[in-house]
Amino acid sequence: MTKIKYQTVTGMHDVFGREQLLYDKVEETAQKIADFYAFQRINTPILEDQDLFIRSVGESTDIVEKEMFTLKTKGKDLLVLRPEGTAPVFRAYLENGMQSLPQPVKLWYYGPFFRYERPQAGRYRQFWQIGFEMLGDASPVLDAQTILIAYNLLSELGFKKTIVNINSIGCEECRKDYRKALLSFLRGKKESICSDCKRRAEKNVLRVLDCKNPKCQQILSEAPQVLDYLCPDCKNHFKQVLEFLEEIPVPYKLNPFLVRGLDYYCRTVFEIGFEDSPEEEAIGSILGGGRYDFLGKSLKTDIVPSVGFSMGVERVIALMKLKDIDSKPKKKEGIFIVQVGDLAKRKALKMIQDFRTAKINVFEAISKNSMKLQLTKANKLAINTVLIIGQQEALNNTVIIKDMITGNQSTVKQENIVKEVKKRIK
Ligand SMILES: [Zn+2]
Ligand SMILES: [Zn+2]
Repeated sequence: MTKIKYQTVTGMHDVFGREQLLYDKVEETAQKIADFYAFQRINTPILEDQDLFIRSVGESTDIVEKEMFTLKTKGKDLLVLRPEGTAPVFRAYLENGMQSLPQPVKLWYYGPFFRYERPQAGRYRQFWQIGFEMLGDASPVLDAQTILIAYNLLSELGFKKTIVNINSIGCEECRKDYRKALLSFLRGKKESICSDCKRRAEKNVLRVLDCKNPKCQQILSEAPQVLDYLCPDCKNHFKQVLEFLEEIPVPYKLNPFLVRGLDYYCRTVFEIGFEDSPEEEAIGSILGGGRYDFLGKSLKTDIVPSVGFSMGVERVIALMKLKDIDSKPKKKEGIFIVQVGDLAKRKALKMIQDFRTAKINVFEAISKNSMKLQLTKANKLAINTVLIIGQQEALNNTVIIKDMITGNQSTVKQENIVKEVKKRIK
């Protein structure tokens, strides 16, 4: 047995084989959705300034408090492996002058992200995320369209019976009043809430609403609701978002306690999960997003009204497995070349190149010598057209072309083989 000397770093994992097919499927599906809605792909660097996330995601969030992979460069800069995608896309938008383009600018990304989380099932320190962002436009119709895009992405991936949970958390102004109301509600309940909530109440009281502790949730069910505190502008914005949602076939429900964990959100926030049933609820949400009109303000730069969502790919893949949504292996189009003997190998190697030029897929097992083994492999791949170069054919400059369905075979001159195959597979 091989002695294994090196292993993946804690919380990171290799992706290959069947697993990689699922990642491919998720990426391809997102690409199709992006093409339809005219989102352009953006790749931002893995490393960003630490401050970008402290200011945007928020100092009292778990991401910034505990989960950032920080590194100090030789020049003493504090950099982090990006923990999320919205802040980098926003930075790139400003830095590259995208404000002068027609708005909204529609960007999507797919790539690895990093959080220093406690290792546990389904949680990785390097994970993949897909995100869609529309920057530079405050219209409520875009909130509804973002939700529709997210919903379509999930249904295209094969998820049935999903439902949108939606809320408005208002702007800075209306949130001030709500924060006060929530604090005074909690004041009388300090003894009953969990220790995390006690801490949250002091640092960022809205995050108390995120608590999953059943006791806290029971207490919070009587808490004041943010919707009652919205200023007229925020109220009107949210009303319009809901009216737009009525126009599209997306089931939604109001969840007055949905706040989303990150500081940059404002007004519309949403998550998509599965329709109610106790088991489905336990699964929780599949993806989430919202508006972040004041992210620019937190970064002490221009205010750019924007909306978007992101989706964790590992979680989606785990759910695809749970729901038995699998990536069917694609049907193999092309031919299989079987060769026997050294001379045949030489001819086959050259022939593969000819098919490559002709843009015809070739499958082979060129290092093998057994005809039986090669035919078995062709069978497994369900390839219909098989070329055989035996010792005799190699000498005669011919090839046997065999139809695996009918069993019919004929002999063709090597120089005509590409033309003959083209005729058959098209
Ligand atoms: Zn407001
Ligand atoms: Zn709690």
